[in-house]
Amino acid sequence: MNQNKLFQLTRWRLATWYAGVMGVILGLCGLGVYEAIAHAHRITIDRELESVAGTLHDSLEPVLKQPARLEPEAIRLLPDVCQVGTDCSKIPNSQRHAAGAIHQGNYYMRLLDRSGRLVAVAGVQPGNLPLTPIEQQWQNLRNDVGINYRQITFTLHTQDYQDWGYIQVGRSLQDVENYVATVRWFLILGLPGMMLLVAGSSWWLAGLAMQPIYKSYHQIQQFTADAAHELRTPLAAIRATVESTLMMPTLSEVEARDTLQTTRRQNQRLSQLVEDLLMLCRMDQLTASSPPKLKGERVCLNDLVSDVAEELAALALTADVMLTSQMQVSSPLEVTGDVEQLYRLLSNLVSNAIHYTPAGGKVILVLERSPHDALIHIQDTGIGISVPEQKRIFDRFYRVNSDRSRHTGGSGLGLSIANAIALAHYGSISVESEPGKGSRFTVRLPLKEV
Ligand code: ADP
Repeated sequence: MNQNKLFQLTRWRLATWYAGVMGVILGLCGLGVYEAIAHAHRITIDRELESVAGTLHDSLEPVLKQPARLEPEAIRLLPDVCQVGTDCSKIPNSQRHAAGAIHQGNYYMRLLDRSGRLVAVAGVQPGNLPLTPIEQQWQNLRNDVGINYRQITFTLHTQDYQDWGYIQVGRSLQDVENYVATVRWFLILGLPGMMLLVAGSSWWLAGLAMQPIYKSYHQIQQFTADAAHELRTPLAAIRATVESTLMMPTLSEVEARDTLQTTRRQNQRLSQLVEDLLMLCRMDQLTASSPPKLKGERVCLNDLVSDVAEELAALALTADVMLTSQMQVSSPLEVTGDVEQLYRLLSNLVSNAIHYTPAGGKVILVLERSPHDALIHIQDTGIGISVPEQKRIFDRFYRVNSDRSRHTGGSGLGLSIANAIALAHYGSISVESEPGKGSRFTVRLPLKEV
């Protein structure tokens, strides 16, 4: 499958999964909110009913004398009460609505005798609400026009603790049901809108999540192309040399040696390149694990700097460059790490300094310490690097001037390897440079804790 299609498909899958999961979470949250609102209303209504019924029950009981009979004292307590068999229309409106608990929340009250027959009613009457069995304290009822009611029943006793009957207090649930239905519709209609938003943001987020993978894939592609290109150059040179030699009718010893030397040079270049590539792979594997799986040797930087200066003295001599080292430290500096890799790091930087410094120039290696780090400066009086190039020279295969660098045998991997080694040692490399005046590379390595 084409890589772009694969990325697109992966983005779709990611977005779909994300939207699906978010949809489920949103749906559950919506349902939770709906249930919480409905539950809170149910509880509030029950508390109110309990409190109103309890107040009426407590104030009625001390004035009730005979079972199922309402004496004038009880009627005074319930100004708008209407006893069964009397004409309630005579009660003046002002009195019907005298301030009383049952008027405050559209409550109704019913008084029943012990056998469940209606004795009196008060409050906002609920229409044809059935008289239900009175064993249960809480009841949900529905009248003939389909309005739901919630009702609580308490047993009433007379002053001398005889059974009087029952008091029922209830209220219509219509207002609450209307409110809860509005919330339900709000959620039902709002959810698809939210899902559209979630789908859009999922697509965007999936794109964002894919970006580093996409970038990394392009880097690998670029790396492969660059590596292939670098490998092809010496291979083509070897083939051209061998083919032109084979086409010669006769071959003198000098010509044969010349051919073999060219082949050997290109072969060395190839080997170096393959070694560099392997080194980079190893460093990638090292730094991919956290913490980097490094050798934990004690490395004395004073010795390392002297070794590098000594080893590369011949190269400097050939290039007519003066290579010196300075230890600006009072005691030896030690770091933890892999001595071979650190040697490679320094020799890459010093050989670059020698290569990019014209004859007669100087390269100085300086070792010093900051409070927690060891600093190694590699300073040259060479051609320098412009500021925009300074940002790119650590990229793999990057060369400021590929013709000139190829002339020095470089493939553009030296600084990437050095940088990878520094990072694996929890260190860093920085560069300060001015074209025409020279460069100063600084390696910072954390000192071994004592
Ligand atoms: P190369 O193998 O080409 O030297 P490097 O990764 O070591 O590759 O360096 C990348 C580029 O950085 C080089 O091609 C060169 O242009 C530039 N460079 C590195 N060190 C120096 C230096 N000391 N002075 C000037 N330019 C340098």
